[in-house]
Amino acid sequence: MQDRQLYEQILGITAPWHVDRVELKLDAGQVHVHLAHEAGAAWSCAECGATCSLYDHSPERTWRHLDTCQYQTLVQASVPRTECPEHGVRTASVPWAEPGGRFTALFERLAIDWLKAASRSAVAERLGLSWDEVDGILERAVRRGLRRREAEAIAYLGVDEKSFKKGHRYATIVTDLQRGRVLYVAPDRKQSSLDGFWETLSEAQLGAIRGVAMDMWEPYENSIRAHLPGAEEKIVYDKFHVAKHLGEAVDRVRRGENKQLRAVGDDRLVGTRYEWLRHPAHFSDQQWRAFAALRQSHLQTARAWALKEQAMELWEYRYEKPARQHFAWWYRWATHSRLKPMIEKAKMLKGRLANLLTYLKHRITNAMSESLNSKIQWIKYTARGFRNFENFQTAIYFHCGGLDLKPSPT
Ligand SMILES: [Zn+2]
Repeated sequence: MQDRQLYEQILGITAPWHVDRVELKLDAGQVHVHLAHEAGAAWSCAECGATCSLYDHSPERTWRHLDTCQYQTLVQASVPRTECPEHGVRTASVPWAEPGGRFTALFERLAIDWLKAASRSAVAERLGLSWDEVDGILERAVRRGLRRREAEAIAYLGVDEKSFKKGHRYATIVTDLQRGRVLYVAPDRKQSSLDGFWETLSEAQLGAIRGVAMDMWEPYENSIRAHLPGAEEKIVYDKFHVAKHLGEAVDRVRRGENKQLRAVGDDRLVGTRYEWLRHPAHFSDQQWRAFAALRQSHLQTARAWALKEQAMELWEYRYEKPARQHFAWWYRWATHSRLKPMIEKAKMLKGRLANLLTYLKHRITNAMSESLNSKIQWIKYTARGFRNFENFQTAIYFHCGGLDLKPSPT
């Protein structure tokens, strides 16, 4: 019959399989395509590939395939079970689906393409899938991708925390800084959150790590020191995290001074918070001139701001010796500034200087690539639909892991 051949071509069915009959169920809007195989076909063990004899057939199963002519298309077949001398009775693998799958490989490939581009709810609706089915496709895709990941060398890592959901729940995220992909996602931001990452690496991969950019966060540091040989040379505190610390100190100085000034009717600092926190490169010429009167004043806030800007000069050095001299000069200035928030931060930075200076050698920061960041933002934005942490974790791997997610084409 004509339509049997048509469906064999559409489904890509080849020997020993053929389309046995096609059943059109108009009421249900479905096409059922029944497959059968030649008698006497050769089978191979799904475990070892050895040629085996046919043992029996498992009960008929159904796989959802890509729609044909707007009909939901279901492939049905009884899968042979083989008897291998070594592995015993096993279900044979079929060319159109992965073992245990309920969708054909082509259908999963399409669903994965759509899930890359649209929200889970949109894909569920358009493809007529339940939430559990969508979750299943995502989870299988990620498992497949992680399993296929090769143990290649990764020179520079970033370790970061991301909040997700309201109520400040955290995830620990390890990224490959050079390839801009997420390598690892774990709940919380404890030492144990990061400990699991090291186990995913081979000995050679561990040895190939040259640097790790991170916030000054002790639990992560403890994990790195416990697992990474030569960690003291490799930990690089993130420049932007230092800038954030110093920005907070400047803001504390401004708030205190603003209160004092306003008490005597001076409101020069009112509404200036963001000027003090903005990076000098992010001012327009006009804004920079307008800000001049403040930054050049004798206000405490102006002094705190200048201290921050001078501290950040450390990252402009190429060599360690002048960088150390700069820091020593800055430290003396900061600790004599009589600005308590700045003195506190200066002491904190001095205690951690060795791993600030490692930047000069590795020149890495924790700033993720723009595309990675915007993807994570998008995932967080759509996170309202996540029922638990595992969903969030799967979504990060799916969208940001740089993984080979799709079942092999048939
Ligand atoms: Zn076998």
